[in-house]
Amino acid sequence: TDRQQLIAGLIADVPDFPRPGVMFKDITPLLASPAGFEAAVTALVEAAPRDIDVVVGMEARGFIFAAPVALALGAGFVPVRKPGKLPGETISESFELEYGFETLTVHRDAIRPGARVLVIDDVLATGGTVGATAALLRQMGAELVHVAVLMELSFLEGRARLAELGVDNVTAVL
Ligand code: IMP
Repeated sequence: TDRQQLIAGLIADVPDFPRPGVMFKDITPLLASPAGFEAAVTALVEAAPRDIDVVVGMEARGFIFAAPVALALGAGFVPVRKPGKLPGETISESFELEYGFETLTVHRDAIRPGARVLVIDDVLATGGTVGATAALLRQMGAELVHVAVLMELSFLEGRARLAELGVDNVTAVL
């Protein structure tokens, strides 16, 4: 669609970042464009089911999209963060990266059991980040209703990894 072309045209390919051999998708031109940023948020809102109680975004780029989507849906926003950032009692989940492990945390009481949750991130790559977030939501007894991302790097097969974890309600704008 025209909207997808607008969004895609504002995401830059940066070779060899942050490491040699990686093609990084840079969303900063999209964020800097009023029409582009609005199109991206609107596309994510349209991907969302109704009756969402909470929108979860993951540090750091997920925050940028999850917060305006939460406002548009009349939902709350809950941040999932790297360790050592949240002041209250937290739960955490670790997952394997190419080299080493990454851990994500969330306030233990941030989401009530049974709440209907939408997870938003900018890029779905291997699915590790969304998978760990889904595990955090499961620990809290929240219902992961949907995952919406701006862009999916389908060659990394994150969708298949998430399906193995029981997460199959995933849409990507691009
Ligand atoms: P995953 O955990 O491998 O799916 O990686 C997804 C996470 O890494 C997301 O939170 C993204 O923000 C970030 N990420 C991975 N690749 C890229 C990229 O090419 N551009 C921007 N962010 C990326």
